[in-house]
Amino acid sequence: MLRNDIGVFTEKGGTIAYLSSKKGMVVVDSEFPEQSQHLINELKKQNSSSFDLLINTHHHGDHTAGNISFKGIVKDVAAHVNSLVNQKAVAEKQKTEDKQLYPNITYNDTWDYKIGKERIKTYYFGPAHTNGDSIIHFQHANIAHMGDLVFNRRWAFIDRSAGASVKNWVTVLEKTIGAFDNETIFVFGHAFDPEKITGNKDDLRAMQDYLSKLLAFVEKEIKSGKSKDDVLKEKAIPGVTEWQGDGIERGLQAAYEELAEGIV
Ligand SMILES: [Zn+2]
Ligand SMILES: [Zn+2]
Repeated sequence: MLRNDIGVFTEKGGTIAYLSSKKGMVVVDSEFPEQSQHLINELKKQNSSSFDLLINTHHHGDHTAGNISFKGIVKDVAAHVNSLVNQKAVAEKQKTEDKQLYPNITYNDTWDYKIGKERIKTYYFGPAHTNGDSIIHFQHANIAHMGDLVFNRRWAFIDRSAGASVKNWVTVLEKTIGAFDNETIFVFGHAFDPEKITGNKDDLRAMQDYLSKLLAFVEKEIKSGKSKDDVLKEKAIPGVTEWQGDGIERGLQAAYEELAEGIV
Protein backbone atom coordinates (compact mmCIF):
# COMPACT_ATOMS: atom_id res chain seq x y z
CA MET A 1 0.00 0.00 0.00
CA LEU A 2 1.20 3.52 -0.75
CA ARG A 3 -1.24 5.89 0.92
CA ASN A 4 -4.90 5.61 2.07
CA ASP A 5 -6.61 2.80 0.14
CA ILE A 6 -4.20 2.85 -2.78
CA GLY A 7 -1.51 0.33 -3.53
CA VAL A 8 0.71 -0.97 -6.30
CA PHE A 9 1.00 -4.45 -7.76
CA THR A 10 3.71 -5.75 -10.03
CA GLU A 11 4.61 -9.17 -11.38
CA LYS A 12 5.46 -8.88 -15.07
CA GLY A 13 4.79 -5.83 -17.23
CA GLY A 14 3.84 -2.25 -16.42
CA THR A 15 3.18 -1.41 -12.78
CA ILE A 16 -0.46 -1.60 -11.68
CA ALA A 17 -2.00 0.82 -9.16
CA TYR A 18 -5.28 0.03 -7.45
CA LEU A 19 -7.82 1.54 -5.08
CA SER A 20 -9.34 -1.05 -2.81
CA SER A 21 -12.10 0.23 -0.51
CA LYS A 22 -15.52 -0.66 0.84
CA LYS A 23 -16.97 1.84 -1.64
CA GLY A 24 -15.51 0.01 -4.60
CA MET A 25 -12.37 -0.87 -6.50
CA VAL A 26 -10.45 0.88 -9.24
CA VAL A 27 -7.49 -0.59 -11.12
CA VAL A 28 -4.99 1.34 -13.27
CA ASP A 29 -3.37 -0.88 -15.96
CA SER A 30 -3.56 -4.65 -16.08
CA GLU A 31 -0.21 -6.23 -17.09
CA PHE A 32 -0.95 -9.64 -18.72
CA PRO A 33 -3.94 -12.00 -18.26
CA GLU A 34 -2.22 -14.25 -15.72
CA GLN A 35 -0.98 -11.30 -13.68
CA SER A 36 -4.31 -9.47 -13.66
CA GLN A 37 -6.05 -12.66 -12.53
CA HIS A 38 -3.63 -12.86 -9.59
CA LEU A 39 -4.44 -9.24 -8.73
CA ILE A 40 -8.20 -9.86 -8.94
CA ASN A 41 -7.87 -12.87 -6.64
CA GLU A 42 -5.90 -10.81 -4.10
CA LEU A 43 -8.31 -7.87 -4.18
CA LYS A 44 -11.30 -10.19 -3.73
CA LYS A 45 -9.69 -11.40 -0.50
CA GLN A 46 -9.41 -7.79 0.76
CA ASN A 47 -13.09 -6.90 0.41
CA SER A 48 -16.28 -7.80 -1.38
CA SER A 49 -16.64 -4.50 -3.28
CA SER A 50 -17.35 -4.43 -6.96
CA PHE A 51 -14.76 -3.59 -9.61
CA ASP A 52 -16.04 -0.19 -10.71
CA LEU A 53 -13.37 1.00 -13.05
CA LEU A 54 -10.28 -0.10 -14.96
CA ILE A 55 -8.18 2.66 -16.54
CA ASN A 56 -5.35 2.13 -19.04
CA THR A 57 -2.51 4.67 -19.01
CA HIS A 58 -1.85 3.74 -22.69
CA HIS A 59 -2.39 0.84 -25.09
CA HIS A 60 0.81 -1.25 -24.85
CA GLY A 61 0.26 -4.95 -24.21
CA ASP A 62 2.16 -4.94 -20.92
CA HIS A 63 -0.51 -2.49 -19.64
CA THR A 64 -3.70 -3.73 -21.41
CA ALA A 65 -3.35 -7.45 -22.23
CA GLY A 66 -4.62 -8.24 -18.73
CA ASN A 67 -7.83 -6.25 -19.34
CA ILE A 68 -9.45 -9.45 -20.55
CA SER A 69 -9.42 -10.89 -17.00
CA PHE A 70 -11.84 -8.10 -16.03
CA LYS A 71 -14.36 -9.03 -18.72
CA GLY A 72 -17.80 -9.38 -17.13
CA ILE A 73 -16.61 -8.21 -13.70
CA VAL A 74 -15.65 -4.55 -14.20
CA LYS A 75 -18.33 -1.92 -14.83
CA ASP A 76 -16.29 0.44 -17.00
CA VAL A 77 -12.94 0.60 -18.78
CA ALA A 78 -11.53 4.05 -19.53
CA ALA A 79 -8.54 5.37 -21.52
CA HIS A 80 -7.42 8.28 -23.67
CA VAL A 81 -9.11 8.20 -27.07
CA ASN A 82 -5.78 7.56 -28.85
CA SER A 83 -5.02 4.66 -26.53
CA LEU A 84 -8.18 2.93 -27.73
CA VAL A 85 -7.33 3.63 -31.39
CA ASN A 86 -3.82 2.20 -30.87
CA GLN A 87 -5.02 -0.82 -28.92
CA LYS A 88 -7.45 -1.70 -31.72
CA ALA A 89 -4.84 -1.17 -34.44
CA VAL A 90 -2.30 -3.45 -32.74
CA ALA A 91 -4.90 -6.13 -31.98
CA GLU A 92 -6.09 -6.14 -35.60
CA LYS A 93 -2.53 -6.42 -36.85
CA GLN A 94 -1.64 -9.22 -34.42
CA LYS A 95 -5.03 -10.93 -34.81
CA THR A 96 -5.63 -10.81 -31.06
CA GLU A 97 -8.94 -8.95 -31.14
CA ASP A 98 -10.71 -11.74 -29.25
CA LYS A 99 -8.17 -11.37 -26.41
CA GLN A 100 -8.92 -7.65 -25.82
CA LEU A 101 -11.21 -5.84 -23.46
CA TYR A 102 -11.46 -2.35 -24.94
CA PRO A 103 -12.27 0.87 -23.09
CA ASN A 104 -15.97 1.80 -23.26
CA ILE A 105 -15.17 5.32 -21.96
CA THR A 106 -12.64 7.53 -23.74
CA TYR A 107 -11.49 11.03 -22.94
CA ASN A 108 -9.39 13.76 -24.53
CA ASP A 109 -7.60 16.31 -22.32
CA THR A 110 -9.07 15.37 -18.98
CA TRP A 111 -11.70 13.25 -17.27
CA ASP A 112 -13.13 13.05 -13.73
CA TYR A 113 -14.47 10.15 -11.72
CA LYS A 114 -15.64 10.05 -8.11
CA ILE A 115 -15.62 7.02 -5.84
CA GLY A 116 -16.24 7.32 -2.08
CA LYS A 117 -13.84 9.93 -0.70
CA GLU A 118 -11.53 9.60 -3.65
CA ARG A 119 -11.65 11.63 -6.83
CA ILE A 120 -9.76 10.47 -9.89
CA LYS A 121 -8.68 12.94 -12.52
CA THR A 122 -6.87 12.09 -15.75
CA TYR A 123 -4.49 14.38 -17.62
CA TYR A 124 -3.32 14.30 -21.22
CA PHE A 125 -0.45 16.60 -22.25
CA GLY A 126 0.15 15.40 -25.82
CA PRO A 127 2.39 12.84 -27.52
CA ALA A 128 5.34 11.41 -25.58
CA HIS A 129 5.98 7.65 -25.10
CA THR A 130 3.00 7.14 -27.49
CA ASN A 131 0.34 9.61 -28.64
CA GLY A 132 -2.10 8.36 -26.02
CA ASP A 133 -0.41 8.47 -22.58
CA SER A 134 -2.50 9.82 -19.77
CA ILE A 135 -1.63 10.45 -16.15
CA ILE A 136 -4.10 9.07 -13.62
CA HIS A 137 -4.27 11.13 -10.41
CA PHE A 138 -5.97 9.97 -7.23
CA GLN A 139 -6.54 13.46 -5.84
CA HIS A 140 -7.41 12.69 -2.22
CA ALA A 141 -4.47 10.32 -1.74
CA ASN A 142 -2.35 12.49 -4.06
CA ILE A 143 -0.93 9.58 -6.04
CA ALA A 144 -0.32 9.92 -9.79
CA HIS A 145 0.21 6.93 -12.07
CA MET A 146 2.56 8.04 -14.86
CA GLY A 147 2.29 4.91 -17.01
CA ASP A 148 5.34 4.74 -19.27
CA LEU A 149 5.95 8.49 -19.16
CA VAL A 150 8.64 7.52 -16.66
CA PHE A 151 11.08 4.65 -17.13
CA ASN A 152 12.83 5.18 -13.84
CA ARG A 153 16.60 4.93 -14.40
CA ARG A 154 15.99 2.49 -17.26
CA TRP A 155 16.38 3.08 -21.02
CA ALA A 156 12.97 4.00 -22.36
CA PHE A 157 10.96 2.47 -25.17
CA ILE A 158 9.74 5.23 -27.48
CA ASP A 159 6.96 4.03 -29.76
CA ARG A 160 7.11 6.06 -32.96
CA SER A 161 4.71 3.61 -34.61
CA ALA A 162 2.13 4.91 -32.13
CA GLY A 163 2.92 8.59 -32.58
CA ALA A 164 5.61 9.09 -29.91
CA SER A 165 7.57 12.36 -29.66
CA VAL A 166 10.77 12.70 -27.64
CA LYS A 167 10.68 16.49 -27.92
CA ASN A 168 7.14 16.73 -26.68
CA TRP A 169 7.84 14.15 -23.98
CA VAL A 170 10.18 16.69 -22.36
CA THR A 171 7.31 19.22 -22.45
CA VAL A 172 4.84 16.68 -21.07
CA LEU A 173 7.10 16.11 -18.07
CA GLU A 174 7.42 19.88 -17.58
CA LYS A 175 3.62 20.21 -17.51
CA THR A 176 3.38 17.26 -15.13
CA ILE A 177 5.88 18.82 -12.75
CA GLY A 178 3.76 21.98 -12.81
CA ALA A 179 0.47 20.14 -12.28
CA PHE A 180 1.40 18.30 -9.06
CA ASP A 181 2.99 19.19 -5.74
CA ASN A 182 5.90 17.99 -3.65
CA GLU A 183 3.73 15.55 -1.69
CA THR A 184 2.56 13.69 -4.81
CA ILE A 185 3.65 10.07 -4.96
CA PHE A 186 4.31 9.09 -8.59
CA VAL A 187 3.95 5.53 -9.86
CA PHE A 188 6.19 4.54 -12.78
CA GLY A 189 5.41 1.97 -15.49
CA HIS A 190 8.93 0.58 -15.35
CA ALA A 191 12.09 0.95 -13.29
CA PHE A 192 15.57 -0.55 -13.50
CA ASP A 193 15.45 -1.30 -9.78
CA PRO A 194 12.14 -3.12 -9.06
CA GLU A 195 12.01 -1.30 -5.72
CA LYS A 196 11.90 2.08 -7.46
CA ILE A 197 8.54 1.89 -9.20
CA THR A 198 7.39 4.89 -7.16
CA GLY A 199 9.04 8.24 -6.53
CA ASN A 200 8.70 12.00 -6.54
CA LYS A 201 9.21 15.04 -8.74
CA ASP A 202 13.00 14.60 -8.66
CA ASP A 203 12.53 11.36 -10.59
CA LEU A 204 10.42 13.20 -13.18
CA ARG A 205 13.18 15.81 -13.52
CA ALA A 206 15.77 13.04 -13.92
CA MET A 207 13.67 11.43 -16.70
CA GLN A 208 13.31 14.81 -18.38
CA ASP A 209 17.05 15.39 -18.13
CA TYR A 210 17.77 12.01 -19.76
CA LEU A 211 15.42 12.74 -22.68
CA SER A 212 16.83 16.26 -23.17
CA LYS A 213 20.40 14.94 -23.20
CA LEU A 214 19.41 12.15 -25.58
CA LEU A 215 18.00 14.69 -28.04
CA ALA A 216 20.93 17.07 -27.72
CA PHE A 217 23.45 14.26 -28.21
CA VAL A 218 21.77 12.78 -31.29
CA GLU A 219 21.31 16.23 -32.80
CA LYS A 220 25.02 16.88 -32.37
CA GLU A 221 25.87 13.52 -33.94
CA ILE A 222 23.67 14.24 -36.95
CA LYS A 223 25.20 17.69 -37.38
CA SER A 224 28.69 16.21 -37.28
CA GLY A 225 27.73 13.95 -40.20
CA LYS A 226 27.21 10.65 -38.37
CA SER A 227 24.97 8.11 -40.08
CA LYS A 228 22.07 6.39 -38.38
CA ASP A 229 24.16 3.23 -38.03
CA ASP A 230 26.93 5.21 -36.34
CA VAL A 231 24.47 6.75 -33.91
CA LEU A 232 22.93 3.36 -33.06
CA LYS A 233 26.38 2.03 -32.14
CA GLU A 234 26.77 4.53 -29.31
CA LYS A 235 27.06 2.89 -25.91
CA ALA A 236 26.56 5.94 -23.72
CA ILE A 237 24.90 9.35 -23.76
CA PRO A 238 27.10 12.16 -22.42
CA GLY A 239 25.89 13.32 -19.02
CA VAL A 240 23.42 10.47 -18.57
CA THR A 241 24.92 8.42 -15.76
CA GLU A 242 21.97 6.85 -13.96
CA TRP A 243 20.14 5.15 -16.83
CA GLN A 244 20.82 1.43 -17.25
CA GLY A 245 19.64 -1.87 -18.65
CA ASP A 246 19.03 -3.09 -22.18
CA GLY A 247 17.86 -0.98 -25.04
CA ILE A 248 19.90 2.25 -25.11
CA GLU A 249 19.58 1.96 -28.92
CA ARG A 250 15.79 2.23 -28.82
CA GLY A 251 16.01 5.83 -27.64
CA LEU A 252 18.88 6.64 -29.99
CA GLN A 253 16.89 5.32 -32.94
CA ALA A 254 13.70 7.16 -32.00
CA ALA A 255 15.56 10.43 -31.45
CA TYR A 256 17.47 10.01 -34.71
CA GLU A 257 14.33 9.37 -36.75
CA GLU A 258 12.46 12.22 -35.09
CA LEU A 259 15.27 14.69 -35.67
CA ALA A 260 15.97 13.47 -39.22
CA GLU A 261 12.29 13.91 -40.01
CA GLY A 262 12.58 17.53 -38.91
CA ILE A 263 15.53 18.12 -41.26
CA VAL A 264 13.94 16.54 -44.39
ZN1 LIG B 1 5.23 -0.59 -20.40
ZN1 LIG C 1 4.44 1.50 -23.00
